[in-house]
Amino acid sequence: MYATLRLPGEAWDELPEVEVGPFDSAPGDVEVLIVANQAVDPDRFPSLRLIANYGVGFDRIDVDACRARGVTVTNTPGVLDAATADLALGLMLATRRRIVEGDDLVRAGRWGTAWSEGPFLGHEVSGARLGIVGLGRIGAAVAQRARGFEMEVLFYRRTRSEDAGYRELDDLLREADIVSLHTPLTPETTGLISRERLALLRDGATLVNTARGAVVDEDALVDELVSGRIAAGLDVFVHEPHVPEALRGLPNVVLTPHIASATVETRAAMTRIVVDNVGAFLRGEPLVTPVG
Ligand code: NAP
Repeated sequence: MYATLRLPGEAWDELPEVEVGPFDSAPGDVEVLIVANQAVDPDRFPSLRLIANYGVGFDRIDVDACRARGVTVTNTPGVLDAATADLALGLMLATRRRIVEGDDLVRAGRWGTAWSEGPFLGHEVSGARLGIVGLGRIGAAVAQRARGFEMEVLFYRRTRSEDAGYRELDDLLREADIVSLHTPLTPETTGLISRERLALLRDGATLVNTARGAVVDEDALVDELVSGRIAAGLDVFVHEPHVPEALRGLPNVVLTPHIASATVETRAAMTRIVVDNVGAFLRGEPLVTPVG
């Protein structure tokens, strides 16, 4: 058994002997691999039977190719919904209320007036119209939180809905004050938020992405953000850890390093699922959360 990182939380200690090291050093005869959304070529590991992915997203793992070689893939759905939804709300608040910009100003000793004015007018989160793209586990957790902020919630997903909040994607983008992305990255969602679709966003709209960078045309997003027409809170990028240079100096962007599930509690719960899947595999029992 080989893991590309030692996972946090008590459950880890229940694993039998596991070697931890960089992905490139994984021995070719390994039967169980624990990874964090790393591309695994099943042909490199002829004995491989299980890839236990530490995360709900598994877009870098070719599940079909693995299945064809008799390799099962598991992920960690459900336990990171709250943490990810919380960060999405945090990015909405930080971006629209200019929290990071304000923090920078105070720390730099540039707070020059007794009452904030002019430069620090933001936009409301409470009562805003929120468009959720992908109303699955995490999207639904965002919707639940949004109701506490008295937001009007619109949503788009793969399956049409008769619900009053359902919109076709282009209509959602035209109508929303805030758009929050919660689809997996698949061939169908790659570039889903294209240059043409970004242009549909209202002036002053806020885009929040805690899904995957490549769901958005990143070059087009950078152009929109540089123009100042929209704002964004971004946890994910196309070529992580690279972040487009043009974004770093922009006041209308809040950037976080893919931390949506990064709480002590959630990461321990994710480890629990990884360990439970490995345990089930070793005992020859049905896996807890297989994908595909
Ligand atoms: P989920 O429960 O499977 O929900 C996915 C939603 O996306 C569903 O509503 C689904 O529609 C929709 N969808 C899928 N393909 C679509 C398409 N082609 N067009 C429109 N909608 C589509 O997934 P989840 O657990 O909420 O997780 C979502 C993603 O969040 C993960 O895959 C992962 O990449 C990302 N994530 C990121 C972080 C982070 O650290 N930043 C943390 C956790 C998760 P239907 O309901 O119609 O099937």
